Amino acid sequence: MFRLTAGHRSSMTVASVLTLGGSALGLAQPLLAKTIVDASAHGHVVGPVLVLAALFVAEAATGAVGRFVLERMGERVVRGLRSSLVSRLLRLEMREYDRHRTGDLISRVTTDTSLLREVVSQALVDLMTGSLVALGAVALMLWIDPLLLLLVTLTVVAAVSVMASLLTGLRTAAEHMQGAIGTVAAELERALGALPMVRVHRAEEREAERMGRCIDTAYSAGVRTARLSSVLSPAVELAVHGSFLLVLVIGGLRVNGNANTLGDLVAFMLYATYLVVPLSSVFRAVGLVQRGMGAFQRIDEALALQAEPAEPEPPARQAPARCSPRPAPAAPEPALALDDVWFGYRPCRPVLQGISLTVPPRRQVALVGRSGAGKSTIFALIARFYEPDSGTLRFDGRPAAELGRKECRARIAVVDQNTHVVHGSLWDNITYAAPTASPAEVQRAVELANLTDVVNRLPGGLDGTVGERGNTLSAGERQRVALARALLTRPSLLLLDEPTSHLDAINEAALSHVLQDVTRQCALLVIAHRLSTVQNADQIILLEAGRAIASGRHEDLLTTSAAYRELASGQALRTQGTNGRG
Ligand code: ADP
Repeated sequence: MFRLTAGHRSSMTVASVLTLGGSALGLAQPLLAKTIVDASAHGHVVGPVLVLAALFVAEAATGAVGRFVLERMGERVVRGLRSSLVSRLLRLEMREYDRHRTGDLISRVTTDTSLLREVVSQALVDLMTGSLVALGAVALMLWIDPLLLLLVTLTVVAAVSVMASLLTGLRTAAEHMQGAIGTVAAELERALGALPMVRVHRAEEREAERMGRCIDTAYSAGVRTARLSSVLSPAVELAVHGSFLLVLVIGGLRVNGNANTLGDLVAFMLYATYLVVPLSSVFRAVGLVQRGMGAFQRIDEALALQAEPAEPEPPARQAPARCSPRPAPAAPEPALALDDVWFGYRPCRPVLQGISLTVPPRRQVALVGRSGAGKSTIFALIARFYEPDSGTLRFDGRPAAELGRKECRARIAVVDQNTHVVHGSLWDNITYAAPTASPAEVQRAVELANLTDVVNRLPGGLDGTVGERGNTLSAGERQRVALARALLTRPSLLLLDEPTSHLDAINEAALSHVLQDVTRQCALLVIAHRLSTVQNADQIILLEAGRAIASGRHEDLLTTSAAYRELASGQALRTQGTNGRG
């Protein structure tokens, strides 16, 4: 809690002063009650009664203001945590991203932080007021009658020792519950993200059952928490009420024996009552803190996840000229060059083994090869999601390390298989990477990506919405939206994954046209399974198990590479087979 509230010292001070004042006002009340009881014998009670009433009002007022200040601080602490979490998660290193489940990470930002807010705002008030009032009450009871206090203390100490074991159980149960809720969130996120697949495979029940088990775990942990925390306060109360009886009997005897006045006994009883509430609220607060520790641990873990290391901003003159024509470089450096790049997702298991390739400006280079050969991995390295184990990347002739990740990414655009279309209008989607683009620029990108028919068809045109995840568009249309978005940023290099997989809406001739148009604007690196679309590529690189085993133009490769011939003939057979069935 000390760490959490570190930046909120002034609120803490104000709240502490108010709480301290409120507690002092509360503690003075039994003393006034004693005065009233002892004075009632000779009738001068109006003054003390008015003062007591004023104390009630003042205590309520300081309590209200103090609580507000603390609650607001709780909100601020949570706001700070949520912002840090959000920005950390958005900058997550790709390897961490691969390792973690999205839904679980989300629940750390939502559920866990809410629990912490309760800890900060509620537990802090309870701990502060509770312990202050309890200490004050004990001191005053000691002053009134040490013997009676000893009786009270013995019973309370017995209760406290039982409480300690309950609190440990509470913390474990809370950790289980938060963990189970995180798992439910992760599973739900996964299932909703692939709902059509879940439905087609009739897996709704299986999924519901699986999540049901986690929900049950959360339920059991919740019930365990409830059982423990509901025993906690009553147990304290029971102990204090027991000591009440003792005080009543022994205190009454001492009044009769003239050791105390009746007023002393009344005041002592009131202080004993005052002990019940603060002590049980202290225990409730400690219980809450125990639960909060689980949440805090999960938040701490998320904050400790590896983010992409920060890089110094490149000097202004190196900033990418988005949405404005890039000045032609003096000497035409290759848009991209990979030199002897080795890379593996796991140690000692290289996925790329010494890849070298060059994409000259305004040229088209194609990567072909079996699935798993490493084509997408090359894209991931170019986007600098991962760093090569050895070898270098150069963008427009400049080493990647010198440019920094942001600048490298500003020079490329990616249209991959998971063409991400977000909820919003077509305009929002196309201008995602260049929000300040002019209508004319957007129009040009739309034409270049062959998207005009979609714009004309959608009610509202460019302002028409595309639905959650773009589900009102066909796969081919989504890919063309992604292409328009990519072209709008005027990259020096466009990475295009599987252009034919979804682009069946345009016939292949039209696609070749689009690609040719694109190469008039920028260099193009294409991953292709169907060789027919890349026959015009300036260079085709055939990958096998992370190595480039052949490269050249289509016609040359047909004569020089048996592996390429095999790939090409396999595709011809498949095409014929499909046509036959069609
Ligand atoms: P391609 O695009 O040619 O089909 P990939 O580059 O996707 O091939 O995959 C190359 C190899 O790397 C495959 O064996 C694949 O299983 C592995 N791989 C791909 N992505 C990851 C990842 N994020 N973590 C671990 N291994 C991966």
